[in-house]
Amino acid sequence: MYSEKVMEHFTNPRNVGEIENADAVGQVGNAKCGDIMKMYLKIEGDTIIDIKFKTFGCGSAIATSSMATEMIKGKTVKEALQLTNRAVAEALDGLPAVKMHCSVLAEQAVKSAVYDYAQKNDLYFEELEGFDPDEDHDHHDDHHEE
Ligand SMILES: [Zn+2]
Repeated sequence: MYSEKVMEHFTNPRNVGEIENADAVGQVGNAKCGDIMKMYLKIEGDTIIDIKFKTFGCGSAIATSSMATEMIKGKTVKEALQLTNRAVAEALDGLPAVKMHCSVLAEQAVKSAVYDYAQKNDLYFEELEGFDPDEDHDHHDDHHEE
């Protein structure tokens, strides 16, 4: 049911923890599975030089947060906004369909952290157009579990 990569990132997640004096913090959750994901970014210039996460949730949520942090560490903020849940799931060699909403959470957590960064620094990112960090992300399932 789960790929080796999912199992590997679940048992040995990267970038777990929190960053003191983080430049941005984002938190999202979904009611369906009870996953809560918190993401911390350290940003220098426009590059994400460090990233940490804390996920209270299922194995898929932990594996996707771990993979997502690996994928955007060292990237620019704008590049991080291009990260999709599909890309994270693919990097993990796939997720069971019923667990795709957990990968959506990773994408949303990154967006939520960048949103926080944009708010604090008075920045505008077109990728965040229409993004509401406080919405319930469950309804995204409709689009991602086909
Ligand atoms: Zn989950």
